[in-house]
Amino acid sequence: MGDTTHTAADTLHRRGLMFILSSPSGAGKTTLSRMLLAKDGEIKLSVSATTRPPRPNEVDGVHYHFVSPERFQQMIDEDDFYEWAEVFGHRYGTPKGIIRAALKEGQDFLFDIDWQGTQQLYQKDQQDVVRVFILPPSIDELHRRLKGRATDSAEVINARMERARAEISHWDGYDYVIINDDVNVCFEKVRAILEAERMKRARQTGLIPFVRGLMG
Ligand code: ADP
Ligand code: 5GP
Repeated sequence: MGDTTHTAADTLHRRGLMFILSSPSGAGKTTLSRMLLAKDGEIKLSVSATTRPPRPNEVDGVHYHFVSPERFQQMIDEDDFYEWAEVFGHRYGTPKGIIRAALKEGQDFLFDIDWQGTQQLYQKDQQDVVRVFILPPSIDELHRRLKGRATDSAEVINARMERARAEISHWDGYDYVIINDDVNVCFEKVRAILEAERMKRARQTGLIPFVRGLMG
């Protein structure tokens, strides 16, 4: 008989992963992120700091840490960021916080960050990063979604549309690309990727003792 003091569930420890969802603004990554956080109890949002003002119904500490430009600069000077970038005239950054230690404990993190942040995170930590890019079904639909969201002025929407092409050009820096046509279909694809990535052999750090137990 093998070691019967452990069950498969408690021996199969795994390393957490950094799950990045990027897209041109308006393609749906915030919607998909919220669906994932609501449905999957094992993943937490990495809350970025930003100098952008909050949108209606955005909560400080939940959607972002909203900070002044001076505070953001101080965080850069104190080396508090994993990565940071300037997007649409505002600064956004991933605070280091507890991420490294929590990954080791098996906690997964969701990152809603742009291609610049994705490249920086990937350079720092290739083994833990999973990069997913969301595309809109068409440019017209992207425009409709940005207008429909009704959170930005016409001027801001036009600036985001102008940026969309440049953002889309970074699609090839990602491991997975999904077209967000029907949101529920797209969401199931996001979940399938996450589940498969969790089962990668290299992440299942508990496999060696488990297999040893199986072999008696
Ligand atoms: P992003 O975070 O990429 O900027 P959002 O998630 O805020 O985009 O989505 C932009 C708008 O499009 C929102 O109003 C959202 O409800 C809507 N939306 C997202 N996905 C879809 C979809 N598959 N079909 C139709 N509307 C969508
Ligand atoms: P929004 O203002 O719509 O919330 O975000 C604008 C852009 O900034 C999005 O493309 C989003 O992915 C990106 N972003 C949000 N947080 C971060 C971050 O911490 N780092 C980087 N590099 N980009 C971020």
